[in-house]
Amino acid sequence: MRFNELVGLKATKANLIATWNRGRMPHALLLLGPEGTGGLPLALALAQFILCEDKQAQDACGACANCKKVQRLEHADLHFSFPGITIANKPSLSRNFSKEFRTFVTQSPYGSVLDWLQAISTEKKMGNLSADECREIIEQLNLKSYEGGVKIQIIWMPEYLGKNGNILLKIIEEPPPGTYIILVAEEEAAILPTILSRLQLVRVPALSPNDIAVALQGRGLATGNKALQIGQIANGSFAEALRLVDDFSNDLLPLVKNLFNALFTGNGIGVTRFSEEWAKAGRENISNVLEYTQSLLEGSLRLRYLPQSSANYAPDEADFLTKLAARNLPEHCYTQMIAALTEATRAIRQNANAKSILTAMGIKLIRVIRQLKA
Ligand SMILES: [Zn+2]
Repeated sequence: MRFNELVGLKATKANLIATWNRGRMPHALLLLGPEGTGGLPLALALAQFILCEDKQAQDACGACANCKKVQRLEHADLHFSFPGITIANKPSLSRNFSKEFRTFVTQSPYGSVLDWLQAISTEKKMGNLSADECREIIEQLNLKSYEGGVKIQIIWMPEYLGKNGNILLKIIEEPPPGTYIILVAEEEAAILPTILSRLQLVRVPALSPNDIAVALQGRGLATGNKALQIGQIANGSFAEALRLVDDFSNDLLPLVKNLFNALFTGNGIGVTRFSEEWAKAGRENISNVLEYTQSLLEGSLRLRYLPQSSANYAPDEADFLTKLAARNLPEHCYTQMIAALTEATRAIRQNANAKSILTAMGIKLIRVIRQLKA
């Protein structure tokens, strides 16, 4: 994978490349970012860049022998360790699952560790990075490089090491010459502090709505407003955005506009009609539109303090937000509306009756607006 195939992360990539160019690449680093932001693809891109024999200014060449081997995840000096499950008599060692891992990473580089564990077993077992796995990492890294260049060890989700991480302390502190150890994690608190303190930390930020929209468009998965709206509600996660692609109505903005028109004209019947209309949309779509409405409310609030933030939105969204912001609703009014939406989203997810939840939410929203007029 090349840097230019990643979703967003412009600054993070530029920093890594600059660090390399200054000859300062740490020999043990931790890429830390929430699920779905692309820590693993970033590690792959960095590994390919390090191994590339014809590095370009901003990326690996993608064409040399090393690049091709990394792209197939078959470079002999690029090692992977990841959580595993003991299946039948096959211990959870990464080398026992390398073929499955290659397929998984190729098909879903933004997939989560749960997606991975489900891909190798239908039983709901906890994965682990075992003590034996740690010993294999050490053994592997102490061997000479196969291709005569550097060796790279990627450890995905070191949260699963638990206390076994202690076995790796020494090698992380002082890797053999020409070795890079790249850990990719999501939760800082779940990593042994002794390991953490020996790693150079690189934070992988949540992806911006615009980065997600651009990536969806570039991959032909969604266009126009749909791509932008998914970007708004995917919480910075490309994995979440991919999940949303399939069950997302084409354009949610008209639904939200209708609701707010009814609210501001004090049209009780309109609000009731909205709950009937939305209730038909199916649970996934309802929670999408609720989250989207919430993100628009937050966006409108933000617009007051940061007028330039409207640039993150499609023109018709920006227009809606500007009009909403121009109403100068007090902040507590936003807070109450957002709370009503959050509560409704939670109830919808818990399978409660959609129509009655939406009706109750509509009544709450009307009250918020009425109390202003009173
Ligand atoms: Zn190359």
